Amino acid sequence: MFHRTPRAIRFHRERRVIVRRSVAIVGGGVAGLAAAVRAAEAGWSPILIETRTMLGGRATSFTDVRSGEELDNSQHIVMGCCTNILDLYERLGVLDAIEWHQTLHFARGGGASDALTIGSLPAPLHYARSFAGMKLFTLSEKAAISRAFLAILRMGPKGRLRWQGRAFTEFLAQWRQPARVVELFWEPIVLSSCNMPSARCEATHALKVFDEGMLAHSFAGTVGVATIPLVHLYDNAREIITNAGGELRLRTSAKALAFDGTRVTGVITDDGRIDAHAVISAVPPNRLAKLCSSTMRDHDRRLLKLEQFTFSPILGVHLAFKRRVMETATLALAGRATHWLFAHNAPPNANYAQRIEAVVSAADEWIGLSEEEICTRVCADIAWAIPTVSRADILWSRPVLERQATFASTPGIDAIRPRAAIEAGDPSGGIPNLFLAGEWTDTDWPSTMEGAARSGYAAAAALTSSGGVIADLPPARLVRFMRV
Ligand SMILES: Cc1cc2nc3c(=O)[nH]c(=O)nc-3n(C[C@H](O)[C@H](O)[C@H](O)COP(=O)(O)OP(=O)(O)OC[C@H]3O[C@@H](n4cnc5c(N)ncnc54)[C@H](O)[C@@H]3O)c2cc1C
Repeated sequence: MFHRTPRAIRFHRERRVIVRRSVAIVGGGVAGLAAAVRAAEAGWSPILIETRTMLGGRATSFTDVRSGEELDNSQHIVMGCCTNILDLYERLGVLDAIEWHQTLHFARGGGASDALTIGSLPAPLHYARSFAGMKLFTLSEKAAISRAFLAILRMGPKGRLRWQGRAFTEFLAQWRQPARVVELFWEPIVLSSCNMPSARCEATHALKVFDEGMLAHSFAGTVGVATIPLVHLYDNAREIITNAGGELRLRTSAKALAFDGTRVTGVITDDGRIDAHAVISAVPPNRLAKLCSSTMRDHDRRLLKLEQFTFSPILGVHLAFKRRVMETATLALAGRATHWLFAHNAPPNANYAQRIEAVVSAADEWIGLSEEEICTRVCADIAWAIPTVSRADILWSRPVLERQATFASTPGIDAIRPRAAIEAGDPSGGIPNLFLAGEWTDTDWPSTMEGAARSGYAAAAALTSSGGVIADLPPARLVRFMRV
């Protein structure tokens, strides 16, 4: 789909590798792909094992049988602060397929909305002008938000650690945020970034989103949306892997990791045994639990807490409209059960004018609802924001509920997230050639594609002793000055 030669492919054309060692990577989601690309660059041959027919894991697309269209399982956005997933897109040659938006629109109901736009002032003042102009909040409510923002900026990453293991609502209470501000400002952003309501969300995850995702750098809060179906972002992965002497094994399920009592020796799959010098697991924790024997757990304490992870659902609803109904690319429905709307232009020859994707985060209460009920509720929320819309404008709808969309970012979660590699001096010894990736591992990020890419890079770096995680955007000078 893209004609630019990806950086990782160029790299292999230019470099001759004589001896390659093989690494079996289980899971072809973002984490497994990130690990495969970096391992290939470092001279290893990755054998990427993916149970499904396509790459991308939770961040992928499917062909909808009713409309015949290639739809994403849900809208996925990246932000300017997501340095690792953006780096991966660049290595895959698809960075141009991300369209950037500098404005977040907040619906006020009845067709009115506020725009929160990144302005020309340096961070952390880049939102100041448009924030001051928002009609959604009164002057005293804006003062309350600004006080909390100042506290977040001043504490920075070090100060955040004091909030570890606590719910984000405790922070909001300490900074006396009015209930209306919590509902209409903090909650929509926490829900969409951490997929948890503030009352159940690990405070450090939410604080990180506001600090590093909005305030610390003026590009951080820019919202990136793929202009092509997510699955095509990975089209170049096969060539990168095969150029490195590796293999892409789709429709292949890992059944167990082969272990000789000291090291992993490969992967047992439903299609036979795959021998490898090392293994990177890039599957969710509950899947990894099924691949490890009790002997492996005795040898490596990173595998002991896999069953303690819980998950949080996301509902995405694709709605095709006869006519163009939404003028902005994104719209937050503050205070409504449907949290965000994303507008997509119709592809050529489509029988509709515009497709809107509605997203409901932490969608526990929607589980068990019929398609009809889901559509009715979402349409009511859209009509609240855009009163000209009626149910009759909708040609077709397609809800997609992912029950295990993200690991649950509950207070204290970071204590059970394992590292990519065994730690020096680990009393349990550990399995030295087993590396763990997946957004649920110890990335310091909530469950996001950025977390997944970071985990893959960290695992590849531990395997190859080269490369590593891409640095964060540097905080702006004024932000550095403000940190206590
Ligand atoms: C509906 C929804 C909306 C989201 N929105 C956003 C968003 O806007 N922005 C954002 O950054 N993140 C978002 N996320 C989160 C993001 O998708 C995930 O955090 C990320 O994709 C996780 O990647 P991963 O590689 O760690 O895991 P996964 O994507 O789960 O990949 C694991 C892979 O392993 C495969 N697998 C499992 N078991 C086996 C086995 N035994 N053998 C072989 N293969 C196996 C699976 O099929 C899968 O492909 C969203 C997630 C969902 C579901």
